[in-house]
Amino acid sequence: MDVIVVGAGLAGLATARQLLAAGKSVTLIEAQDRVGGRTDSRAGPGGTWLDVGAQWIGSKHTRMQALAGELGVGTFKTYTDGGIIFNWNGRQHSYRGLIPRINPFALVNFALAQLKLDWMARKVDLAKPWEQSQWDHETFESWIRRHTVGKKAHALFTAYTNAVFATEPKNVSLLHALYYTHSSGGSEWLSKSTGGAQETRFEGGTQAVAKALATALPPGVLRLGLPVRRVQATKDGVAVTAGKELFLAKRLVMAVPPALIPTIDFQPILSPKRAQLLQRMPMGSVIKGQAVYASPFWRGRGLSGQVVSNEGPVKIMFDNSAADGKTGVLTGFFEGEAAIEWSERTDAERQAAFRDCAVRYFGPEAADMIHFEQKVWAADPWARGCYSAHFAPGVWTQFGDVLRRPEGRVHFAGTETAVQFSGYMEGAVRSADRVVAEVIDALD
Ligand SMILES: Cc1cc2nc3c(=O)[nH]c(=O)nc-3n(C[C@H](O)[C@H](O)[C@H](O)COP(=O)(O)OP(=O)(O)OC[C@H]3O[C@@H](n4cnc5c(N)ncnc54)[C@H](O)[C@@H]3O)c2cc1C
Repeated sequence: MDVIVVGAGLAGLATARQLLAAGKSVTLIEAQDRVGGRTDSRAGPGGTWLDVGAQWIGSKHTRMQALAGELGVGTFKTYTDGGIIFNWNGRQHSYRGLIPRINPFALVNFALAQLKLDWMARKVDLAKPWEQSQWDHETFESWIRRHTVGKKAHALFTAYTNAVFATEPKNVSLLHALYYTHSSGGSEWLSKSTGGAQETRFEGGTQAVAKALATALPPGVLRLGLPVRRVQATKDGVAVTAGKELFLAKRLVMAVPPALIPTIDFQPILSPKRAQLLQRMPMGSVIKGQAVYASPFWRGRGLSGQVVSNEGPVKIMFDNSAADGKTGVLTGFFEGEAAIEWSERTDAERQAAFRDCAVRYFGPEAADMIHFEQKVWAADPWARGCYSAHFAPGVWTQFGDVLRRPEGRVHFAGTETAVQFSGYMEGAVRSADRVVAEVIDALD
């Protein structure tokens, strides 16, 4: 083979597709019996499908839109008609538009700090974030504390961090918060549904994109159910051991989450700097739940199904019903510390906690689920968390320059290596564009 690609998530599938189109011979090796990685769409009752992994794209996610168009995967708009429930310290109201009715002082404080965050974020060169080293000495938490007065504005930033990074502000460097915010299109765009990053969903579930990419590959290219365990440099290529098979190629693309790379035995070992970077890229923590109802009963009450709350463990919810809106689906997220704590509980306990939160927001009807689906992403051996990896203080500046750099014949793709939309499906596909150019250059 010219190239072996490891990992049949969106990055690996897009890489294989483009290399084949450029006339290269490719084998794509995937550990699981399915493609799609962090996209995972499950069949629900009555022909519904439930995305327990990634689900939304927005207007700036142009590569994902183009890919869905090429592959014939339909899209539809997220349901957003009606009020958003804002639940804070046990008091609840619904609001429309961007701004909940909270203390105007807290709101102005939050808005000014958010403007400053975006202004600083735009100064970060996405290709070289480590150049802004002055912002890599402190956590996002300490910056938030310095820029907020009172608990409410602070809590709004914590909610932003939980929702976007799936971790707490104390775990993320200020530089990483700025880099990620800039990479993802700005704090406002990435937080919004209508006109933002949560605007559009995929017919049949998000995994349909990965499945369509896989179906379009020539027979024999994709090898499922083969975890790669060993990568050995040979005189003029790489030898990859996966299951009981040995594959040989001139070049190798690793399109797996960073946390999984150290589980593979590289001979010779990866460079010390990369090895230490990989020890410092923890995945975020999310448990995603999907409650199915006989109908989207909240719509009739003028509610969009969206919730923002500071009472957990499920603090964020959305209407996740299919486009026809016949069956009602509410999705909700346990994020950051809530996901860590609730990963220790049973499925039944998590379902009960989700139901209690839904009842708190939508009333007793929300107890009448006809089906519940959940996924603890840290328990997935082939993801080990989500939505993506994050960086603590010092990591970008000390180790960041090796993130996208090839090592000999080994190249690195995957959403964490993307310059733009890192952490998102869009980033996964854009990382494929970069790695394909790199590999073709090296082969020619
Ligand atoms: C709950 C959840 C919600 C999300 N929501 C959104 C959203 O709404 N919008 C959005 O854009 N993004 C979202 N994301 C993030 C998005 O899913 C990822 O950014 C994207 O799918 C990553 O793609 P990837 O190809 O880089 O990696 P992955 O999808 O992780 O693919 C890596 C593949 O490598 C395989 N692999 C790992 N180790 C090995 C090995 N040793 N041998 C062989 N194969 C291996 C894995 O099985 C996997 O298939 C969400 C993620 C989660 C989990």
